[in-house]
Amino acid sequence: MNDSNNHINSSLELGESRRIIGISGGIGSGKSIICKIFEVLGVPVYYADERAKWLTNNDLQLRKEIKELLGREAYDSNGQYNRKWVASQVFENPALLKILNSLIHPRVYEDTKQWLQQNQDKAYVLREAALTNAAGNGNDLSKLIVVSSPMDLRIARIKKRDPQRNEAEIRAIIARQKTEEEFQKIADYQIINNEKELLIPQILSLHKIFQG
Ligand code: ATP
Repeated sequence: MNDSNNHINSSLELGESRRIIGISGGIGSGKSIICKIFEVLGVPVYYADERAKWLTNNDLQLRKEIKELLGREAYDSNGQYNRKWVASQVFENPALLKILNSLIHPRVYEDTKQWLQQNQDKAYVLREAALTNAAGNGNDLSKLIVVSSPMDLRIARIKKRDPQRNEAEIRAIIARQKTEEEFQKIADYQIINNEKELLIPQILSLHKIFQG
């Protein structure tokens, strides 16, 4: 047990050998903005979703495998990953989506391993992803931080940040993600980002714990 107010599950202790802390939460909860504050404190952050996007464009093996699975249309005339078209193909085909993910996930895993090697000297690192399991459940996470924000605030933030998305699209994304209750169940720590509680003290308190 430690002294953080953010601490939810006390059963797990911080792993000695690996200090990879996951940070997750639904769309618009504020994961990225919170990670930027951790980065200011000198904590390296692996942005798994962004990195997966980068790899679909830049990892030659992955490009080849995706084209073999979905066809040449998976990349546009400029050679860029055609996310919209791919999404339309897998949207109502969970089996195909599963195969696509089984191509992408091992590449992200390899990429994460390389990234970790470059940051071996750090007391801990963060791995940001919207999709996650509990720490230790099929992943190398020591702990998981969940960022929580009220739903109406999340939707308002995304409307402002991504004006090309309408509310129905935002709600469709939310429907595919874990619910707030599901996130709470797997959280070791939470950060409340409701624009009432101050963020920086919550972040500093977790930083102190993870630095050991
Ligand atoms: P996604 O899953 O889409 O990546 P996210 O959880 O990373 O979303 P952010 O991008 O960090 O969310 O936040 C969504 C938007 O809300 C951003 O424009 C961000 O600047 C803004 N935002 C988040 N938290 C706050 C806050 N406490 N005060 C003001 N703006 C905020």
